[in-house]
Amino acid sequence: MFSHLPPYAGDPILSLMEQFQRDERSNKVNLSIGIYTDGRGVVPVLPSVRTAAAAVAEVGAPYVYLPMEGHAAYRQAVAKLLFGADLPSAEHLAIVQTLGGSGALKVGADLIARFFPQPTIWLPDPTWDNHVGIFEGAGFKTERYPYYDAQTKGLNFEGMLAKLDSLPKGAVVLLHPCCHNPTGVDPTRAQWEQIVDVLEKRGLLPFFDLAYQGFAESLDEDIWPVREAVRRQIPFFLSNSFSKIFSLYSERIGALSVFCPQAGQAANVLGQLKLTVRRNYSSPARNGALLVAHVLGDDKLATQWRAEVEEMRVRVRDMRVKLASQLKSAVPDQDFSFLLRQNGMFGYTGLTSTQVDRLREEFGVYAVGTGRICVAGLNDSNVARVAETMAEVLR
Ligand code: PMP
Repeated sequence: MFSHLPPYAGDPILSLMEQFQRDERSNKVNLSIGIYTDGRGVVPVLPSVRTAAAAVAEVGAPYVYLPMEGHAAYRQAVAKLLFGADLPSAEHLAIVQTLGGSGALKVGADLIARFFPQPTIWLPDPTWDNHVGIFEGAGFKTERYPYYDAQTKGLNFEGMLAKLDSLPKGAVVLLHPCCHNPTGVDPTRAQWEQIVDVLEKRGLLPFFDLAYQGFAESLDEDIWPVREAVRRQIPFFLSNSFSKIFSLYSERIGALSVFCPQAGQAANVLGQLKLTVRRNYSSPARNGALLVAHVLGDDKLATQWRAEVEEMRVRVRDMRVKLASQLKSAVPDQDFSFLLRQNGMFGYTGLTSTQVDRLREEFGVYAVGTGRICVAGLNDSNVARVAETMAEVLR
């Protein structure tokens, strides 16, 4: 019956994780997967979430189904967090709870594929690998626009803008509002203004994917391009994830928002989103929604959580500074300042795949073959060794 099924080659990053777990070296370091670990190298349970979990357990509500669109208080709290003072009314905003950021991308992709036949999505080159998997899986053709410039280890802004400016009306364009995965390279505010100008002028359909809100500058600054699209009345999709910024990876909690400038359209969009959910998994899970809704719905806890996000952001920034300065001391003829210009958990190091292999095989330091490292996996106990071993393969 199943003899025609080929073996699954495995996900490149998740396979590295498995290999890391089997590695018996005590000084091994995992910088491959996108997980935030704290200064002790542990995935934190945020104190605000711990308080919320106790409150949720205390209530002990029965495990009834959530509606297709998710938990009402959660959806409201998330909309407020995302849009702040620019929060559109329900006439203009359709928002559903999703299974993490991935679930939001999938529900959005399915909806677009159903109503816009033979869709193409334009992805940054490079992008998070699973963007390709999710959109192609939903029936999209995937294309690329220039993004990373390996020469400058920065943004190829001219290339990006020129490409976007050549796309047909209605073309779907995936944009990372902050902390670009995998490069850590983000447009500046002035560059974003020009990008939004092109989106508006050409009538493109942005699909913003926000997995790291608060890890670049702040919760409000990092979502600026999305809020600017609201101010300019540009329709868009927005997927957001609480995996990293609430450290709730396994709860699979996120949301998909669709902004509809024309009043009244959000009701039908919401209806179709519900149908998409119904056809896929019927309704989302509750626990993550209760935790996030509890934190965001309580002023004191929400303030505490904002400080916890800031603490994570600052810790990762501090690790960038330490890594760059230790690399500079070890390899003085090379420039590592690009590491300081990157945002968020990830960074492109410029290491080749051969150098990455050497790092892993000789030293037990795990990075992704593209040279991507998860800076959030560094801490005071391993950063010196990572810098030394990176220097060793770079020399
Ligand atoms: N988009 C991007 C850019 C990501 O980096 C990730 C997580 N690695 C996701 C979406 C998916 O998030 P989640 O784990 O919440 O599904």
